[in-house]
Amino acid sequence: MTQPLQTVKGTKDILPHETPRWRFVESRAQDVLARYGYREIRTPIYEATELFARGIGETTDIVGKEMFSFDDRGGRHVTLRPENTAGVVRAYIQHKLYTQPAPQKYWYFGPMFRAENVQAGRQRQFHQLGVECLAAPDPCWDAESIAMAAHFLAELGLKPLDAWQLQVNSVGCDGCRPAYRDALQLFLRSCQADLCPDCRVRTERNPLRVLDCKVPACRSQLHQAPLVDTAWCNDCRQAFAQVEEFLTAAGVPFTHNPRLVRGLDYYSRTVFEFIACGDRLGAQSTLCAGGRYDALVADLGGPASPAVGWALGVERLLLVLGTELPGAQPPVAVLVTPPGTPFSETFRLACSLRSWGLSVEMAPGGKLERQFKLAERLGVPFALVVGEAELAAGEVILKNLTTRSQQRVLISRDALRAALTSSLQEVQ
Ligand code: ATP
Ligand code: MG
Repeated sequence: MTQPLQTVKGTKDILPHETPRWRFVESRAQDVLARYGYREIRTPIYEATELFARGIGETTDIVGKEMFSFDDRGGRHVTLRPENTAGVVRAYIQHKLYTQPAPQKYWYFGPMFRAENVQAGRQRQFHQLGVECLAAPDPCWDAESIAMAAHFLAELGLKPLDAWQLQVNSVGCDGCRPAYRDALQLFLRSCQADLCPDCRVRTERNPLRVLDCKVPACRSQLHQAPLVDTAWCNDCRQAFAQVEEFLTAAGVPFTHNPRLVRGLDYYSRTVFEFIACGDRLGAQSTLCAGGRYDALVADLGGPASPAVGWALGVERLLLVLGTELPGAQPPVAVLVTPPGTPFSETFRLACSLRSWGLSVEMAPGGKLERQFKLAERLGVPFALVVGEAELAAGEVILKNLTTRSQQRVLISRDALRAALTSSLQEVQ
């Protein structure tokens, strides 16, 4: 016998009983983000490999070991996007969107690809909702972007401190970070023997990344490490104070975690994470993460456009939300065809009902009893019995499957819509 095929490791089907929850999350996002002036952008799911190498940084985990890269038929090196900030920035530069009024605010929703160790909340194809605010040097945009994420989560019923906790930090700027980097590197060199092999390499190549390491031995060493806030320049200190001030004004609770850094190379100043409370996500507790990236647009060949953004893992969000979200709506009625009525009459009526905006299903003929069984299995409230005698009178029988009561209704848009909606209210 032929072995049935399965999804590739790290990828998942999103089945019809799950898609309503995805649509719900996406529509809440659209609604909330639009109120903040964010507009949707859709970029290709694969890009030139060089974009990610230059944008995310050669020494990051993503570029170093997590990218799905291949050569296309023309021999171009391309990569399935592991994240979408680089793609959005590429589009911003390519289409000269910087000529439009600043700031430019975009959101995206779509699949990302990373060759990772698969576990709960960690897939190889996963989805992110993300936002980017470009040409936005003022700290008010950092705070707005963070407050918007908090607002979105709250609209889904995820309240601060109860469902999530927000941590904020600043990783400094090109002016003050080098001195901190050197101080941290000196410290890390003094405890090499106690660090994991990756962190020994990071000590030389990108010491800040060690602060992000999840290995417990490394974490315990870091208690003694110098903290970035002692090295901030005046401008960074002031910018951070403003972000704190605006977040407080917006009523968004946060904690300053001076050890928070992000895994990507392009961040400067503000970085933040929304961490899920409780144990639904296990070790993968970061729901949403982001920060400011003042140099990325220029690094990728555009005009200086300081920016800030975040990305939220949709699978992780759905895990946190559990199954409380709305499910699929069943049809309002099943059309039942008694013996004697040509099926084409049922077919004609079904088409009319649908064109009148009603969601109906047809039972595929056969024994009446089996047709009613189907209606029951679908969980619909009503059956429409398309009987010969009623049809001759231009009518149909509407049967309430809960109360078993029935009535004759004229086959017209207004009569059927009225009968189905008023009976629906009775049922609810
Ligand atoms: P982590 O520390 O969990 O590896 P990250 O720093 O790599 O996260 P980002 O690149 O900042 O994550 O992505 C933002 C969000 O996207 C994460 O907070 C998470 O919710 C989600 N995410 C990242 N990688 C995955 C994955 N492999 N599977 C599912 N969700 C993911
Ligand atoms: Mg990661």
